[in-house]
Amino acid sequence: MKTWLHGLLFLSLAGGAAGQQQQQQTGPSPQYDLLLRGGHVIDPRNAIDAVRDLAIRDGKIAEVAERIDPARALKTIDVDGLFVTPGLVDIHVHVFAGTGERRSYAGDNSVYPDGFTFRAGVTTVADAGCAGWRNFEDFKRLVIDRSRTRVLAFLNIVGHGMRGARYEQDVDDMQPEPAAEMATRHKGLIVGIKTAHYMGRDFRAVDRAVAAGTKAGIPVMVDFGRAYPEKSLAELVTVKLRPGDIYTHVYSGLRGELDPSGHANPALAAGRQRGVIFDVGHGGGSFTWRVAVPIIQEGFWPDSISTDLHAGDMNTGVKDMLGVMDKFLALGMPLDRLILCSTWNPAREIRQEQIGHLSVGSPADVAVLRLEQGDFGFMDVYGARLRGRKRLSCEMTVRNGKVVYELNGLSRPDWATLPKNYRATGSPRWDGNRASSGGLGRMPLGYENPADAPDPAGRDSSSRRRP
Ligand SMILES: [Zn+2]
Repeated sequence: MKTWLHGLLFLSLAGGAAGQQQQQQTGPSPQYDLLLRGGHVIDPRNAIDAVRDLAIRDGKIAEVAERIDPARALKTIDVDGLFVTPGLVDIHVHVFAGTGERRSYAGDNSVYPDGFTFRAGVTTVADAGCAGWRNFEDFKRLVIDRSRTRVLAFLNIVGHGMRGARYEQDVDDMQPEPAAEMATRHKGLIVGIKTAHYMGRDFRAVDRAVAAGTKAGIPVMVDFGRAYPEKSLAELVTVKLRPGDIYTHVYSGLRGELDPSGHANPALAAGRQRGVIFDVGHGGGSFTWRVAVPIIQEGFWPDSISTDLHAGDMNTGVKDMLGVMDKFLALGMPLDRLILCSTWNPAREIRQEQIGHLSVGSPADVAVLRLEQGDFGFMDVYGARLRGRKRLSCEMTVRNGKVVYELNGLSRPDWATLPKNYRATGSPRWDGNRASSGGLGRMPLGYENPADAPDPAGRDSSSRRRP
């Protein structure tokens, strides 16, 4: 009896859905591809912090308003109770994967971006110097050109990039001329020059990075290695760096950020006064509660939040961009400021002012976030824990106007409402995961033409018709 009733219910629901679909097909084509309705929009660039509807068309933000009629959109997704923010921008990651080189950030220490970005609301990353001018074009070919995430790069001042200590301590390979030339050739893709891991007790690595940055007209990001009396943090940020250059790993404590008295090094405030930018760059060794808490208690917050994501830290304290943002939430950073430090601020720092906000006409890169309440814990790089009551999770990510990730299928119909032999549920106008075969998920690499793809049922491809 129960089964029979369920069957009847199923049929009636399926009929209703089919009817709706037909209606949609016969009416005029809706103006907007996608409408996110009823979310709390936080767009610091445009000073929006309120419940708003957001409409997308042709991959661009088309309208943000108190109310947008769902009849004007092909697809409406109810995001009531969630936060709608610009797609997150993580300017310190390591994603030069795929070369097969061991113990190298131009190899196995890196991760492929798409596996780690969209599920955390991130739509843009900047690789922090895995490649130098000698191997940047390999990085572009192997990763940048193949990723759905927007991948930008800081070019390492070392010609070979981060291939290990043997290369990274070689001052002779730090050549401003070819680095600047490569950066100029790929303007808009190479957004800065990086120096990192240099252990010498001198400023040669920094000086050469700044020379390249000056020549190419782009900022420098500095991983300062270790500070020494003759190579101090103060000299770096008040003499060597230019306004707009970026000091990453600001809460590491390894470079004198916390002075021996237990207070923030006065050089931090002096550097900020000059216009030097301070970035988190959490990583596997650069975020410690015993350093971050006292510095932040004195009011020195970061300008931008970034992960330093790589194969070695993604399963420890970092996890992902939201995992790092959660720590600042736990330290008391207001949510609008947190979003500012994860969207518009980093976008401005790398001079990509077309992203990091939800202005009409800008690329429709959007994160839909849930603020969870509970009893949570956050680890630093030494495994010390700080407890917190709030945590962000990513419900949905939109890249170039298309849903590329969603945690709970908010955009999707209940299966029982669909026709008996249902296949694709999305439209290519808004569904970023709709494969041409009709299912979700892109074809395996090399099988973009669905007729060439291996059939999971094992049938010969020639016997199948293209959908
Ligand atoms: Zn790094």
